[in-house]
Amino acid sequence: MSPYPHLLAPITLSGVTLRNRALMGSMHTGLEETGDWTRVTAFYAARARGGAGLIVTGGMAPNREGGVFPGAAGLFTDQDIANHARVTQAVHAEGGHIAMQILHAGRYAFGKDCVAPSPVKSPISPFPPQALDEDGIEKQITDIVTAATRAIQAGYDGVEVMGSEGYFLNQFLVTHTNRRTDRWGGPYENRMCLPVEVVRRVRAAIGPKAILIYRISLIDLVPDGSSWDEVIQLAKAIEAAGASCLNTGIGWHEARVPTIATSVPRAAFADLTARLRPEVSIPVITSNRINAPDVAERLLAEGAADMVSMARPWLADPDFIAKAASGRSAEIAPCIACNQACLDHTFSGKLSSCIVNPRACHETVLTFAPTLNPKRVAVVGAGPAGMTAAIVAAERGNQVVLFDRADQVGGQLNLAKRVPGKEEFHGLVAWFDTMLRKSGVTLRLGQEARPNDVTGFDEVILATGVIPRDPQIPTDPGARVFSYADILNGADPGRRVAVIGAGGIGFDVAEALVHRGQSPALDAALWRAEWGVSAPWAARGGLAPNGPTPHPPAREVHLLQRKAEKPGRHLGKTTGWIHRANLAMKSVRMLGGVTYERITAEGIILSHGPNRENPGLLPVDGVVICAGQDPDRRLSVALNQLGIAHHLIGGADVARELDAKRAIDQGARLAAQL
Ligand code: NAP
Ligand code: SF4
Repeated sequence: MSPYPHLLAPITLSGVTLRNRALMGSMHTGLEETGDWTRVTAFYAARARGGAGLIVTGGMAPNREGGVFPGAAGLFTDQDIANHARVTQAVHAEGGHIAMQILHAGRYAFGKDCVAPSPVKSPISPFPPQALDEDGIEKQITDIVTAATRAIQAGYDGVEVMGSEGYFLNQFLVTHTNRRTDRWGGPYENRMCLPVEVVRRVRAAIGPKAILIYRISLIDLVPDGSSWDEVIQLAKAIEAAGASCLNTGIGWHEARVPTIATSVPRAAFADLTARLRPEVSIPVITSNRINAPDVAERLLAEGAADMVSMARPWLADPDFIAKAASGRSAEIAPCIACNQACLDHTFSGKLSSCIVNPRACHETVLTFAPTLNPKRVAVVGAGPAGMTAAIVAAERGNQVVLFDRADQVGGQLNLAKRVPGKEEFHGLVAWFDTMLRKSGVTLRLGQEARPNDVTGFDEVILATGVIPRDPQIPTDPGARVFSYADILNGADPGRRVAVIGAGGIGFDVAEALVHRGQSPALDAALWRAEWGVSAPWAARGGLAPNGPTPHPPAREVHLLQRKAEKPGRHLGKTTGWIHRANLAMKSVRMLGGVTYERITAEGIILSHGPNRENPGLLPVDGVVICAGQDPDRRLSVALNQLGIAHHLIGGADVARELDAKRAIDQGARLAAQL
């Protein structure tokens, strides 16, 4: 019997039978904008081959003013239709189905021509929108309907109308953004007219035998967001207007509550879909922070939804369902919800990829072809760079030996997984372990590799990682100084702590220091209290009236840096604010522009500004050094002396701003070329 009977059961939407209940949720990857349709086609075909029941494309603009950014892709010309037809044909050839998302960004459109119900600027856009008049509204409806018609011409099995996340249709629903006094504004019946009219006219245009998904916002997480009664009223009206099913949207983009970051508990919002489901008779789709087949199966078995939407997990592993269905779930590369290579790229204008799968969106340009010339390959260092290089080299047919002085694989990932809110790293290390063993890599753990261990190999790859930087601060006897590894391994630096260095690791360490008890990432009720999230049936928009009620901090923490800028500025584009907000809620004092004069038994003496003014003691019980890293090239130096050629990857190559994304990418690219 299938391990996932509910997930793998077929479902029929408007006469279209899908092979399973796994929906690949819409993601903007930037692929369409490259104009390389061979690449776009390869991306979607790979996900169809890997078993996705229904793919929803990235959002396509219905018109120029509604595009998320200038030049956003859409079906504007015959050539666009022909390009998209290549995608749909390839997906169908793999036995899959695909719907095109129509995304009108409204006031979130990053351009001066953006339009909205009312001229209320979004806090996340510099552009004030123009309020639409009656003709303007009619034009938007017509353009959305035209996009849907063209999608069907291009061979799509249907469309998803984006009505959540604070985009155009969502903007009409709430008084926060809809101040109109005409028939499109005022009472809720008027405010919901536009989404309902759009669905009605799209259905009329595409006919009864095409899928029409409406993505409905179940919890807006913004002030004056929709009430639960309004959500239900809209859901029923959307069903009556002809939608095949309802997909779940969580939170507006401007919400100050994280909704998909790794610190959000898995399936944290599925209870909302469960509450919606009995109110309508069309299928409902749940989403957000579902990244494993057992979680999806449980939700479906419990009746929380009829389908499960996963988006980023399909970047991490295009064979998600194929592996689940064939009893190989442990081989599914887990999406750790870091956003580092997907959303952070999108918001920086870069092509998306995935930290754990550098081939995502690069299917045609990064290939791991079997080698014609198998080699003996030694890899030293079982961190992300070394593990990736070893796996890819072995999968290509090379004989690979992987050394690490630790008795387990994972390197610095083993520290990351101890940070509260980063529990997904456990699954990542377990996946690397599974894949190393499956690919036939010989593991030599608990063994410090020496030059003579790596002689006789055809290729030597050093992924020896980093050494924590010693910031050379004068230190008195009796001072209590810790490394970040000490803290993440459980050392107690006392009640008052100074953290030197406010990079990614300084923030992680500060979070670990202020934390007490169960991680909110593993306890949805705790997490909701921390972020002030209420049930939307108890509070409009799902914002708790009393705001966040975080646990008191376990310690007094001071997070310090020398640069005279806001600490945490260089954290992830889409996640940095979460870390900063989290520490602010725990009263962590962040201080830039300091000089570390001396660490004493009583604390740390700091001076301020470029002229090192006002030196004074910050009384703390312990000081933790998080001052970055330097490459660990000790073995490289020894090999150079012996004339043994080798490759350097990961932190051993460049330690500055090292992160797992670069390490894994570099390891994969090197091994692809051996
Ligand atoms: P980092 O991000 O480069 O930060 C190093 C910190 O140390 C900076 O705040 C720097 O600030 C300070 N510093 C550098 N040299 C110093 C010196 N000689 N004396 C005193 N302070 C010094 O490095 P990291 O924190 O070790 O993180 C490594 C990488 O891991 C990062 O690139 C990051 O991408 C990744 N990571 C990210 C996250 C995350 O996003 N949550 C978490 C963990 C790791 P000043 O020079 O201003 O003092
Ligand atoms: Fe998931 Fe991170 Fe990959 Fe994005 S980059 S798909 S969040 S693992």
